[in-house]
Amino acid sequence: MRNHIFLTAMIIIFSLLLAQTASSNPAFVQGNHLNINAGTMDNFKKLAGARSGEIFEGLSKVKEYLQNYGYISESATNFTNSFDEMLVTAIKLYQQYYNIEQTGRLDDKTIGQMMVPRCGNRDIGNDTSFIQHYSANHGNLQSVACYEIFEGRPRWKKRALTFAFLPQNKLSDNYKKTIARGFSKWQAVTPLSFRETGSYSKADIKIGFYSGEHGCGHAFDGVLGELAHAYAPPFGWFHFDNDENWVVHQGDQPGHNSKGPTMLTAIDLESVAIHEIGHLLGLGHSVDRNAIMFPTLTNGVRKIELQKDDVDGIQSLYGANPDSSESSPPSHAQNLFRGTPAVSRWWGPTLLAAMALVDIIFL
Ligand SMILES: [Zn+2]
Ligand SMILES: [Zn+2]
Repeated sequence: MRNHIFLTAMIIIFSLLLAQTASSNPAFVQGNHLNINAGTMDNFKKLAGARSGEIFEGLSKVKEYLQNYGYISESATNFTNSFDEMLVTAIKLYQQYYNIEQTGRLDDKTIGQMMVPRCGNRDIGNDTSFIQHYSANHGNLQSVACYEIFEGRPRWKKRALTFAFLPQNKLSDNYKKTIARGFSKWQAVTPLSFRETGSYSKADIKIGFYSGEHGCGHAFDGVLGELAHAYAPPFGWFHFDNDENWVVHQGDQPGHNSKGPTMLTAIDLESVAIHEIGHLLGLGHSVDRNAIMFPTLTNGVRKIELQKDDVDGIQSLYGANPDSSESSPPSHAQNLFRGTPAVSRWWGPTLLAAMALVDIIFL
């Protein structure tokens, strides 16, 4: 009980501190303030087969989901459960982004994609003209660069950046080292350098694990669903969902996490950290499924190597690392949009077998 009261008090204090920080900065929010939890996502399955013109309980939540990631203009409000033109258009755009056949319907593939754990940042920017631009120019996705830069091309002016961990999280060294390795990936291909500092308040990048509403305007949703989110320069807010079953690697083997790994919900911390750092440096999402900046990460998958698309994107903002003689990593263009992210040797096959079993039981 005392622990519970302590935890509640700490959450309130963090929220107040964050709210204060938020009010002192012009908000650069990727994603809006809607919150869709894992239970809502499960209900999406029941909407499979819903058709244009029909009314289905729960469709308003699908609209919220699509708006949350940029597929419906943020100015749209008061969503109904009607399968209207706005929803058809948004679903088609979503299907285009994820290279799913553009049926405009909530078919199994589309709902399946929505169920994959993902980053909380938007896929597509906020203004309608950008959506139209995107829609007009991505007809042939393989002909264009896949990475996106945040609108306005925000980036860090200085090259030596500091990061710090929220002291109250009391993270283990393994967690800290894992996230620090994420910074080193981007350091290797840019003129940027990253150094941990003990001064949380003064750090350029502030890293925290939070549950639910935590004051930044974008609540977390419990296990799976949204995993983390991060803000464009110069905000440096780097937030992980504390309710995930984070797995930390030690060498080749998965390490233990504080909650005890549950295979079906295990999320690789390093993979998510590298992705979010891309946002902190100014990258948006990429439609290249192999790229670190692709928005989703299937549970149980480890994806820790920057791809050519990621490197091209970050170097368009900062240039290359002058100390490195390394050339760009190999392109995976031949696999774009068709391949699946690399599933790690030690874990993937067992996990996939287990997931297949779950599918058989529940579907
Ligand atoms: Zn992201
Ligand atoms: Zn947050």
